[in-house]
Amino acid sequence: MTTRLPLLRALAISLLIGAACHAAPPAAAVPAPDTVGAATLAELARATRAATTVPEHAFVLMDLIGPRMSATPEGERARSYASERFTEYGLENVREEVFPLLAWERNEAAMTVLAPYPVARREMSILSLGQVGSFEVEARVVDAGHAVAEDFERLGDGVRGAIILAQPGQPEGYGRGVHRSEKIALAEAAGAAGFVLIAPGSLVQVGVATLGDHETRIPAVAADYETGAWLTRIVERFPEEVRARLVTDNRMERTTDANVLADIPGTTDEVVLVGAHLDSWDLATGAVDNGSGSVAVLDIARALAEHVRESGERPRRTIRFALWMGEELGLYGSRHHVETRKESGRLDDYVAVLNLDVVGTPTGLGAVGRPEAAALLRPIARGLNAGGWELSEEVGTGGGLYSDHMPFMLEGVPILTLGRTLPERAAGVTHTSADTRDKLDEEGIADAAAVSAALLWAVANAADHPLDRWSFERTGEVMESLGFRDPLERSGEWRW
Ligand SMILES: [Zn+2]
Repeated sequence: MTTRLPLLRALAISLLIGAACHAAPPAAAVPAPDTVGAATLAELARATRAATTVPEHAFVLMDLIGPRMSATPEGERARSYASERFTEYGLENVREEVFPLLAWERNEAAMTVLAPYPVARREMSILSLGQVGSFEVEARVVDAGHAVAEDFERLGDGVRGAIILAQPGQPEGYGRGVHRSEKIALAEAAGAAGFVLIAPGSLVQVGVATLGDHETRIPAVAADYETGAWLTRIVERFPEEVRARLVTDNRMERTTDANVLADIPGTTDEVVLVGAHLDSWDLATGAVDNGSGSVAVLDIARALAEHVRESGERPRRTIRFALWMGEELGLYGSRHHVETRKESGRLDDYVAVLNLDVVGTPTGLGAVGRPEAAALLRPIARGLNAGGWELSEEVGTGGGLYSDHMPFMLEGVPILTLGRTLPERAAGVTHTSADTRDKLDEEGIADAAAVSAALLWAVANAADHPLDRWSFERTGEVMESLGFRDPLERSGEWRW
């Protein structure tokens, strides 16, 4: 989309958040010492928390702008808002990084049960999944359980030409999470004609149906729990006999969107990056996923720019802020960033990446697949705890797939994590019509921003090679040990 945020509206938003304009950091700032003391970290976190801007950003991004799908006017307004804040806070190199994507816009979806006679022509409540085009199929309905690989092996030819009914998540004790795109890829490979993903609750839960840069080959939709449970009972009673018509009609377009980037320049070429996806799904205002991370990144930028200005110290490494677009449609923005850095030979500059996707009260620090990171992270947690924070001093090593850290992780770049708890009211709302600002724990997000600011400052000023970038082989070994081989093979991203 190329529409510009109308000037008056931009002005209104600027006035609404009412933040003071700051001057740029002094040009003669001196570098910080090699290591940052516990007292400095605790004070930085305290000051960040005390002056939080989280509620203002949440109000603008969620309550005023609303859903922020990639390549929509609302997504563009969110980008403009982020650029304006980075500029106002005195960050440097505030820029948009344009990337190509397959944009997707919801239109209609309908499913009607046609047979057997006792339940004929019942309309169901469904919604299309993302990256699903326009289809019309009429077919048998087959219950495929959780639709994991073992289910398709068990059903064999029985799913050929059928509409698959899939439970959410994975069987108990399965050992790893199974993403919806993996189930849909399995259904396509088995020759299914359509795919219905049942939600875990009463709200339809959407999401992207394929992780590649392409649309699905079959119609893939989501149903609410009640609809899915009813259909499952009917299929159980009339195996082989239930037939349905599934129709999807969505708009897809090859276009561009842009990430918003900004820097607090360091005194070396090395970079510590903190990012969050700014785009959201269309059903609600993307508050938990990922307004929470977006507002945290804006608040961290404000706090660290202020710290540089007031202390007169520049960080040893550049602290880069990234608000990604295109995440929900398949990590388009972050993938593009990693590919272009790799092509220009500059990915090695990245010493660490912190990805904030779904933020709540911080519980501890971690680094995916790196027990040795405890030497770096435990003193940071202890330093913050000495200042009254209550972080676990156990350093986490777990992590997942399918968010913006993934393109970096697959290249061996160190991935930092921030453990968190979410309020009960946030449970199950992501990708549904209930992901609205009232679900947020804004106090907890302000805490997360404060802890992240201290973490980033410490890592940006740590001594040489705080964490090593893994070799190609080592990255493959760790991905295997984390159980990522299967899902990455199914999405065509296993490189080893
Ligand atoms: Zn997310």
